[in-house]
Amino acid sequence: MRCLTGAEVSLYAVERCLSRSRKQHEFFIFASIMNQSFLDTPIEYVKGLGPARAEVLKSELGIFKVMDLLEYFPFRHIDRTVFHRVADIDNEGMSVQLKGHIIRMQELGSGRASRLSATFQDESGQIELLWFKGIKWIKPKIKAGVTYVIYGKPSEYKGTWNIAHPDLELESKMAKLEGGRFQAVYSSSEKLGKKGLNSAGIAKVIRNALTQLPPQMAETLPQDMIEELNFPARRAAIINMHAPESMEDYVRALNRLKFEELFFLQLILLRQKLVSTKRTVGARFSAVGEIFTTFYKNHLGFELTGAQKRVVKEIRNDVNSGYHMNRLIQGDVGSGKTIVALLAGLLAIDNGYQICLMAPTEILAQQHYEGFQKMLEELPVKVALLTGSVKTAERRRIHEGLESGEINILIGTHALIEPKVKFKCLGMAIIDEQHRFGVAQRAKLWAKAQLPPHVLVMTATPIPRTLAMTMYGDLDISVIDELPPGRKAIKTVHRTDAHRLSVFAFLKEEIAKGRQVYVVYPLIEESQSMDYKDLMDGYESISRSFPMPEYQISIVHGKMKPEDKDYEMRRFAKGETQLLVATTVIEVGVNVPNASVMVIESTERFGLSQLHQLRGRVGRGAEQSYCILMSGLKLSSDARTRIKTMCETNDGFKISEVDLELRGPGDIMGTQQSGLMNLKVANLATDQEILSKARKMAIVKMDEDPDFTLPQNELIALGLKKALKQRKDWSKIS
Ligand code: ADP
Ligand code: MG
Repeated sequence: MRCLTGAEVSLYAVERCLSRSRKQHEFFIFASIMNQSFLDTPIEYVKGLGPARAEVLKSELGIFKVMDLLEYFPFRHIDRTVFHRVADIDNEGMSVQLKGHIIRMQELGSGRASRLSATFQDESGQIELLWFKGIKWIKPKIKAGVTYVIYGKPSEYKGTWNIAHPDLELESKMAKLEGGRFQAVYSSSEKLGKKGLNSAGIAKVIRNALTQLPPQMAETLPQDMIEELNFPARRAAIINMHAPESMEDYVRALNRLKFEELFFLQLILLRQKLVSTKRTVGARFSAVGEIFTTFYKNHLGFELTGAQKRVVKEIRNDVNSGYHMNRLIQGDVGSGKTIVALLAGLLAIDNGYQICLMAPTEILAQQHYEGFQKMLEELPVKVALLTGSVKTAERRRIHEGLESGEINILIGTHALIEPKVKFKCLGMAIIDEQHRFGVAQRAKLWAKAQLPPHVLVMTATPIPRTLAMTMYGDLDISVIDELPPGRKAIKTVHRTDAHRLSVFAFLKEEIAKGRQVYVVYPLIEESQSMDYKDLMDGYESISRSFPMPEYQISIVHGKMKPEDKDYEMRRFAKGETQLLVATTVIEVGVNVPNASVMVIESTERFGLSQLHQLRGRVGRGAEQSYCILMSGLKLSSDARTRIKTMCETNDGFKISEVDLELRGPGDIMGTQQSGLMNLKVANLATDQEILSKARKMAIVKMDEDPDFTLPQNELIALGLKKALKQRKDWSKIS
């Protein structure tokens, strides 16, 4: 028999489709004969999916084609061969599969409170099963004397365990259950559920599509890469994501798909960066001049740490390269980023340029201003402060001084990016605590100079390097990973309200030694008035326990006028008050070296990086410092993890890793990169290792063949094009 050619096959199929009635099923066969195009077939034509159900898949999940459906991956698999014992149930975290009988059943309560309770028994013990909904439907189905397999998440109520709304299946039916040993679990929604597309419904549709999968499926990675990385073929990976024979197969499939996703993401970032560094010319600061040298020799007051020296050198290379610098300095609280930024700024000034420094809060801007003035007082450098509360006349003087070039350094808050603020010759913009400034705000600074000013961003939210390179794709990164010598690790403890008296006694001891104390309350915008009340109640109770005149207390909160805030902060900074009771306005940056205790109230309401920042306010002097985390007794498991992490480590990098795992990178970085962060399978927080591997491989491939024109790299070119298109679509959405 002669084999049919490809064209004949498709003609044959078309004929069949046309000659018989156009049933969906046939179109499906037709499409699968067409191999690759099967994956592009609209999902209506998948067996078991009519137009109505296809419509909800489109609107709810954005699944249009068979390939989209196959790339809708389960978030978990249940191993149907592993059974737990009732007697072994001891935590709420994990779902269990049990085998046994239902020996009793009763309806309890009435009306809205009614529920069905069944006692389930295996050879090791008994557990209660509960249904709050669908009682009428479920009750007649439950039979005595037959063996059931149940699956669900146990929870504890008053010392006994129960499972609410378990999956319930007759053991005799289990053998016939489709989907193999590992049952895939998909996330669904109410709308999908109503159309029969709950997890099991979706599983069934996907299984149908899998049985029609063509024997050949286009690869997305070059063969040499697949071999080198020991990955399964793409077809096998897709199958094993949904219906693996073993967990190892699943993990291998998952790793391949994660790698693929991160690899193309890295390619996009590397290419963006190549473009931006190639194109943008920047001011060149070729001379290390008089001011820099004098300051470094005579006014620094301490020796820079090795890490600081390294970063200064990196900046020096950037600004002397003729290209525009876009650099991020990552360093833990207290690692000495400010001095590095100042030295960078002096390079600009020595070369005839002005600089500006943006801080996220007025207090911090003020403090930078005072710090800079003090350090520079004997040098011919003029520093000005511009914040929202600067009066009109003074503001005008500043505007003039900037345009004439008389002012060398402008420090301030958002006020700096107002259009009225014009420089004679802005050479560098330094941004402190970057997470509060968006990319758009950075861009406004560019408008203020002939050449784009060099940009130096300082952040105290350190994150792992590869991740940072992914998140701040357009920035080069320097890390200050060394603290100035002589710092003592801050001792951190967790206390509840029951310990309040002993905490106060401890504070009194510290104050008696001449130290100062911060007491910080949370301030969350939405519940401002409640938070304000908490703060005031706290202030009152502290005033009673620390009475005047022996003790002086400062209070600072968001409702105060800037002058009053300032006055109170100053009293504390000068040592006139021993306690500072405040909302989180002191979070970033303030520097009072004599303060040795940080008490944080309602710790459970703070995020990890915020807690770390707050703790960083102490431990700045030579004394042993303490951080006391106060909380209620009842804590969510996330809150418990945050507190435990704080008690265990002072290392900002470790803390941010935990934070990433708890919150996910999107939350931490805000929405600025959300288009990029929109990943299907990979997780930037937990897939560090794969991320590094993908980045390394992307660099190698770009070096070999920057535009992917070699035949062996054709698939990379294709994948990159597709990835770029996807990212673009996402960025349009956000
Ligand atoms: P951060 O990185 O949190 O912004 P700062 O720049 O505020 O830290 O520095 C914290 C303190 O450490 C400041 O008082 C600063 O003067 C001091 N400092 C910075 N570098 C050194 C150093 N190399 N040796 C000693 N003290 C230093
Ligand atoms: Mg700082």
